[in-house]
Amino acid sequence: MKITDVSAMILRYEYDESIADAQNYFSARNAVIVTVKTDEGIEGIGEAASFGGPPESTKFIVENELAPIVIGEDATNIERVWKKMFDRTRQHGRGGIIISAMSGIDVALWDILGKKAGLPVYKLLGGYTDKLLPYASSGFFSQSKDTKALANEVESYYEQGFKYAKIKVGRNPEVFLSPLPNMIEANKCNYSLEEDLERVEACSKVAHRYGAKLMVDANNTWNTYTAIQMGREFQKMGVFWLEEPLHLDNIDGSVELAAALDMPVAGYESEVGLFNFREYIRRHAVDIVQPDVIWSGGITECIKIANLAAAFNLPCLPHVFSSAFCLVANMHFLASINNGGILELDRNVYPLRDELLEEPITVAADGYVHMPQRPGLGIRLREDTVAKYRVDV
Ligand SMILES: [Mg+2]
Repeated sequence: MKITDVSAMILRYEYDESIADAQNYFSARNAVIVTVKTDEGIEGIGEAASFGGPPESTKFIVENELAPIVIGEDATNIERVWKKMFDRTRQHGRGGIIISAMSGIDVALWDILGKKAGLPVYKLLGGYTDKLLPYASSGFFSQSKDTKALANEVESYYEQGFKYAKIKVGRNPEVFLSPLPNMIEANKCNYSLEEDLERVEACSKVAHRYGAKLMVDANNTWNTYTAIQMGREFQKMGVFWLEEPLHLDNIDGSVELAAALDMPVAGYESEVGLFNFREYIRRHAVDIVQPDVIWSGGITECIKIANLAAAFNLPCLPHVFSSAFCLVANMHFLASINNGGILELDRNVYPLRDELLEEPITVAADGYVHMPQRPGLGIRLREDTVAKYRVDV
C-alpha cells in the first residue's frame, strides 16, 4: 500500500477572552491536521503540533519537506517511514518543528494501519485498557479570573465528578532567568510567587473538601531554587504533582529538584524524541514522563519513550492540549501501555476539540472516557466544523 499524497490544513479558533499559561498568551489556538492518502484508497488523519510557532511553518514542512521523502513508501512500514524522515532531516532536524511535523504523518500512518487491519490503534499496539480515567486540565490565567474565580472553576470540575484537576502557575516577573519577559503580553496576568502560593492554597482547600487531587503546572519558567522553594510549599498543601517546573535545558536542576521533593515532578511535554527523554528518564529528572504523540515524534516514538520509562519503573502520562485528533491519538497511545494512568482532558473552551468529530469524545456516566472501537483512530471528521475554522484556503 503506497503513500500517494501528504497534505496539511490549518484550523484556528479565536478566543473571546485570551487564556494564558506561564509563558504563552493565547488569543487563538491552532491545529495542523495532516492527511496521508494511499493507492488503496485508505486515508489516515493525524495532527502535528505547532505550539509556540506559526502553524503555516509546520504545514510547509509537512507538505514541502517530508511529503517528498515519504511518497512512494509502503504506508504499513511505519518504522521505515519514520527512520527515513528522521535520517533525511538529521542535519537540521532531530527535534523542533521537524519532529512535530513527522509526528502528524506518523499518527496518520497508524490510522491507516488500523483501518487496513480492521482494529483500533490501541489494540494494534497491544491493548492494555478499554477506558481511561480523565483529569480536568485547565485553571489557565485570564484577565478576568481572580483567585476566587479560579477556586470556583476547580470546584466545578470536582462537582462534575473529576477526581483530579490541574492549574497553572508561574507568570512571575520577579523570578530570575524566567523567559516570561520575552513572551507576548508578558505584563498581563502577572502574579508574585506569594500570590501563586495563595492561588494554589485556595484550590488545594477545595480539592481536600472533595477528597480530590490538585496538580500544578509551571510551564518551564522557574529556576532551580525557586522550584525547590515552591515545591516544598506545594507538597505541604498536598499537591499531587508539580509539572514542568524548570527550563527544558536545566536537566541538572530537575535532577536536584526531584531529589529535594517528596512530591512527583512531571514533565517534560516540551521535550521531544527518545534520545532527549532518555536523559530525563535515566537521570531520574522526572517521576512522571509526559510525551505527546503529536509533538514528541508520533505514536512510534512515544511507545519507545513509554517503554524506556517502564524500564525505570516510571509512569508515562501523555500531554494532551490540542484538537480532537491530538486527544484521540494520545488516548490510543495511553490505552496501549501498561505504565500509563490518568488522561489529560483540556477543559478550556475549544470547539476544535468538542465539535471536530461526528461522535465527540466525552466523559461517560461512569467517569471514564471509553476508547473508540472502530478501526484506526476510530473517528470521523466533521466537514462543517472544518469549513468554519479552516484558515489556510
Ligand atoms: Mg503541561
